[in-house]
Amino acid sequence: MSKNPEDVIRAEIRELKAYPVPDSTGMVKLDAMENPYRLPPELRGRLARLVEEAALNRYPDAGAPALKARLRRALGVPEGMELLLGNGSDELIQVLALAARKPDAAVLGVEPSFVMFRMIATFAGARYVGVDVRDDYSLDIEKLLAAIERHRPGLVFIAYPNNPTGNLFDAGLIERVIEAAPGLVVIDEAYHAFAGHSFLPRLARQPNLLVMRTLSKLGLAGIRLGVLIGPPRWIGELDKLRLPYNVNTLTQLIAAEVLEHGSVLTEQAAAIKLERSRLLRELQRVPGVTAYPSYANFILFKISQAGRVFEALKQHGVLIKNLHGSHRLLADCLRVTVGTPDENTAFLSALTRSVDA
Ligand code: PMP
Repeated sequence: MSKNPEDVIRAEIRELKAYPVPDSTGMVKLDAMENPYRLPPELRGRLARLVEEAALNRYPDAGAPALKARLRRALGVPEGMELLLGNGSDELIQVLALAARKPDAAVLGVEPSFVMFRMIATFAGARYVGVDVRDDYSLDIEKLLAAIERHRPGLVFIAYPNNPTGNLFDAGLIERVIEAAPGLVVIDEAYHAFAGHSFLPRLARQPNLLVMRTLSKLGLAGIRLGVLIGPPRWIGELDKLRLPYNVNTLTQLIAAEVLEHGSVLTEQAAAIKLERSRLLRELQRVPGVTAYPSYANFILFKISQAGRVFEALKQHGVLIKNLHGSHRLLADCLRVTVGTPDENTAFLSALTRSVDA
């Protein structure tokens, strides 16, 4: 009789560690690329009234047409392209991995990148192939093209800008990947609000391209809404894997209303970009720190004894992300999310004290 996890749960799942979410109670929280600003009180009041009126006894609107119409306008979705909504873009990555999983097919990603590409491919039982970037975090196009030729991946994920390195890969090189790939290429533009560059205009030209966005980094991480954009012939197939009612009523109402006042979020993103410049400048002045320019709302930096510095920062009440040990190219690397000016100042001062300690 099989009553043990070893007999039932796949070996590759038992070997996984769950995605770590550390306790941040009472800390300056700069670990998860959240927008540090809340919505203005007037808009929050409007959301409260929408929630008050919402028919929570009913299932959500399955196709979310009102929200989709707002998203089309807000994101500038090209004519003729379709949208698939997810409970965060994590769920869309899962839909993609499940759909493309064939017994012999691979999912390919660059390394280091967003860890959920690899994890979700593993959940889906797909073979994940990771191709290292160069030492300067740029795409290693020769290695990528060779891996595509060898593994013929049904699915390729590229984060643009990349997480955790913060850089934008060369768009011309990505085009070559899209052309060489035998299947879908998904450009994950989670940090688009802070980058300004997008593959959306290329959708009409590249039949195997999909673009993914999220409202999480823009200021709505709490409602979980991801968007996959592409030609109807792809989105129509993927939609079959979406669980019914995956985007709940409150998310639909809140996202549609906030997008109607979209300038709030873009103004906050502009403030974050300004702070990003200051944070980078000041980080570069800290002795022993190498900080990398970023097109996202976080900054990657290298510092000797990163693990010790990370712990010392925690002792000072500042939570960032320790990447040391996660990849050869991230040795001694930490990642800090851009917060409010006060939070960034608190981080910088804690860092200076941690380095001196
Ligand atoms: N893509 C990238 C590149 C990310 O860094 C993240 C979040 N860290 C996600 C997707 C997931 O975002 P969401 O909150 O929409 O699931």
